[in-house]
Amino acid sequence: MQDYEVIVAGLGAMGSATLYQLARMGISALGLDRFSPPHELGSSHGDSRITRLAIGEGKHLTRFARRSQELWRQMEQDCGQPLLTQCGALMISSDLSRAQVHGASFFATTLEAASHHRVAHTMLDATAIRSRFPQFCVQDQEYGYYEPEAGFVRPEACVRAQLTLAERLGAHVQRSEPLLGFEPDGAGVRVITERRSYRARRLVLATGAWIPELLGASFAPAFRVTRQVLTWFAVAENPDLFTPERCPVYIWQLPEGRRMLYGFPALDGPSGGVKIATEQDERTTTADSVRREVEQRESDEFFRDYVRQNLRYLSAHCLKAKSCLYTQTADFGFIVDTHPSCPEVLIVSACSGHGFKHSAALGEVFSRWGITGRLPESFTVFGLGRF
Ligand SMILES: Cc1cc2nc3c(=O)[nH]c(=O)nc-3n(C[C@H](O)[C@H](O)[C@H](O)COP(=O)(O)OP(=O)(O)OC[C@H]3O[C@@H](n4cnc5c(N)ncnc54)[C@H](O)[C@@H]3O)c2cc1C
Repeated sequence: MQDYEVIVAGLGAMGSATLYQLARMGISALGLDRFSPPHELGSSHGDSRITRLAIGEGKHLTRFARRSQELWRQMEQDCGQPLLTQCGALMISSDLSRAQVHGASFFATTLEAASHHRVAHTMLDATAIRSRFPQFCVQDQEYGYYEPEAGFVRPEACVRAQLTLAERLGAHVQRSEPLLGFEPDGAGVRVITERRSYRARRLVLATGAWIPELLGASFAPAFRVTRQVLTWFAVAENPDLFTPERCPVYIWQLPEGRRMLYGFPALDGPSGGVKIATEQDERTTTADSVRREVEQRESDEFFRDYVRQNLRYLSAHCLKAKSCLYTQTADFGFIVDTHPSCPEVLIVSACSGHGFKHSAALGEVFSRWGITGRLPESFTVFGLGRF
């Protein structure tokens, strides 16, 4: 049995950020993952994640997004890789919009958060959107919120950087070693994996879409795992309009009650296409049984129903497509709480389709919990009790 101060199980966005922060503080820490992150089987892949500061899912989240941007900038210096691109974000809506974006009041809460946290932004009417961003076919009644400090982060590069830096600072990382269970052990916790047992003062459980199975049936109602599809379409004309200098990330609350649409500029040149997606939360799945491949039919239908009429200059040719997993809660929030029968275990499920932008900062908070066993008072908003 090997002893550590803190063990982090699951080294995706949340776990790798936590392990990195523990290592920065010189805490003896072990990170375990069932695969070899970054990988394409969880929730932290697909080249890009939107980051924005005025958070439409709740203004209490802005400080994590802001702090994460600072941490990624520091990490870029330490690892020599680009992680964050602040190309701006455009949120489009209208009084006719019925599409849900992580709840009913996304646009209004975005404006409230921007004003509360003094996030720089500009409001644009349809004419201004057309003249500044002609790639978007907005309708007359639509309007936009433009935030210049927003943009995208590169999820695989962030996970890789955090793990590389953590190991460089002395953390141990065990890849391809799934955690099978845990139990209270004196003043700490015994962690059982496929290969051996470890003892730690505390365990951070950040196993993403695998968390419901690990926690057991009584926790299952708190989580919904859903399959999401990401598609990259070729740029047919005006490639300059899709570079990060000319194209913001965007979230579009479409009219006529359809789903939302979101997308990115061409990250590394127009030849790689532009990533565009929507969300679905009607059908659930599990991390082990999900259909991972994306059929041609799915990308064809998405182009026909969502892309063609809303974005100019793109071709129906889908260059690549991937599936990815959301772990959602009923209120589109996060779960961060101690395990009710094992208080030395922190349950971390910060997804609901919007967690990445907060992950570097949340890792700081989880690492402090690993040392002190205490969460900030304000974290009651993430409590399990609300379900
Ligand atoms: C399609 C899609 C689009 C998204 N878009 C955005 C966006 O634009 N902006 C944004 O902010 N957020 C976005 N999100 C949400 C964000 O990506 C997630 O909040 C974040 O990736 C969740 O990270 P995680 O660490 O909880 O999970 P993961 O990154 O999946 O990590 C979980 C890890 O646990 C490991 N694991 C599982 N079981 C075990 C076990 N038994 N033992 C050891 N290890 C285990 C897995 O191998 C995995 O590496 C999006 C998510 C998806 C899927």
